[in-house]
Amino acid sequence: MVKLDNNAWLSKKLSNGKVLCEVCSQSCVLGDGEYGKCGVRCVVDGELKLLVYSLAAALNVDPVEKKPMFHFLPNSKAFSIGTVGCNFSCTFCQNHEISQYPKEHNHNVTGRKVSPKQIVELALEYGCKSIAYTYNEPVVFFEYTYDTAKIARENGLKNIYVTSGYETHKAIDVIAPYLDGMNIDIKSFSNDFYKNICGARLDPVLETVLYAYKKGIWIEITTLIIEGKNDSDDELRAIAKFLASIDTSIPWHLSAFHPMYKMLDVGRTKTSTLKRAYDIAKEEGLKYVYMGNVDLEDYESTYCPSCKEKVIQRSGYIGSNVSNSLKDGGLCPSCGYLLKGIWI
Ligand code: SF4
Repeated sequence: MVKLDNNAWLSKKLSNGKVLCEVCSQSCVLGDGEYGKCGVRCVVDGELKLLVYSLAAALNVDPVEKKPMFHFLPNSKAFSIGTVGCNFSCTFCQNHEISQYPKEHNHNVTGRKVSPKQIVELALEYGCKSIAYTYNEPVVFFEYTYDTAKIARENGLKNIYVTSGYETHKAIDVIAPYLDGMNIDIKSFSNDFYKNICGARLDPVLETVLYAYKKGIWIEITTLIIEGKNDSDDELRAIAKFLASIDTSIPWHLSAFHPMYKMLDVGRTKTSTLKRAYDIAKEEGLKYVYMGNVDLEDYESTYCPSCKEKVIQRSGYIGSNVSNSLKDGGLCPSCGYLLKGIWI
């Protein structure tokens, strides 16, 4: 039996003796000795435990642009951490070695012991302006993110979730006071895609986007465009319309797929496909649309929606060459238009 003293939060004991995990929309109901879909939360002696508290499987200093967050402290570094485990099971996962680790290693977990306080100390030592909870799904190590984010905020650092958007409203309510930004994947606009390829559902993701926006958390959206799977004009337009109905200033990152993990039968996304998605997004009125995993400066830079001036130039390897000319918290230097984002 695993020896643990890290009780998980947001759980409810049910009348049948099982425990409901309320941190993500998988809503696992677990009996003693059972593991959640994420593989890192399990019930021990009637209590839900988090197996990866203070156990980081990945630690890196990354440009914040790599998350990707383009309207969030441009040209700064984000101290990036992740653990093993994930509540999704995407067949194209780029980080499957850590995200699917517990499921593929008989529920074992692994990582390097790093406390929340140590993470913040390292972030400060490396000159980071933020901490990004990324690589795997942050909500599955929620308590670890919360404790770290709180200390980070006390030390002047911002916090970012890079997430699949399966947080419950309860989880967002708890973390929101310390969470500055989220990059949320909308992997598709089809529930069948979510069900068959990711082991999840579409609706909770859309609810998270809306809820996080209403809570005042800065959100950017990423869609990995996979030809033949999620790239029809109708589907791309549906995502663009959804975002535009919330706020046309929400940045949308269109990212190119390359064969990965179990999805090896689909080719790399063509630049022409990304451009088609880009054009659809613009037709629907989105102000900030970016293309990722391709080296096209025109589609990576930020332009003032009012006067079309290039206000943040990005070129070369992501985050390596960023030049921000915005003034005073997001004003266009040419016409004074206020671009939305977290600029200071
Ligand atoms: S965090 Fe894990 S245990 Fe909790 S509901 Fe999600 S998948 Fe299930």
